Amino acid sequence: MTVETRGRQRQGTEARRKPQRTCIACRQTRAKHELVRVVRSISGVVSVDGTGKLSGRGAYLCANDKCLERGLRGPYLENRLLIGTPLSSEERNRIHQEAQTVIESRRGGEVTSS
Ligand SMILES: [Zn+2]
Repeated sequence: MTVETRGRQRQGTEARRKPQRTCIACRQTRAKHELVRVVRSISGVVSVDGTGKLSGRGAYLCANDKCLERGLRGPYLENRLLIGTPLSSEERNRIHQEAQTVIESRRGGEVTSS
């Protein structure tokens, strides 16, 4: 059972210059470059936005395996991106891979094995 926490907490005084986004899996607020943006385009295709410039409805996940897996496993993306039907496991795998590609390219090709 998932408990939906309704409404978002507003931290009024935290209007820093850095754009902060909330991870849909762990709900931690992070700087944008620490997150991966997943976008649902107008045509309904869900993909990872490596540039941050794709238009559409966006969701953010921490750039780590834990949050990617968690975010892709649960109904987080569907809820956040207002997707009517659950993503197929194929789509989830594709999104996960795209996210990892984005994360790796950000690291400058540096591969971490863990
Ligand atoms: Zn997270």
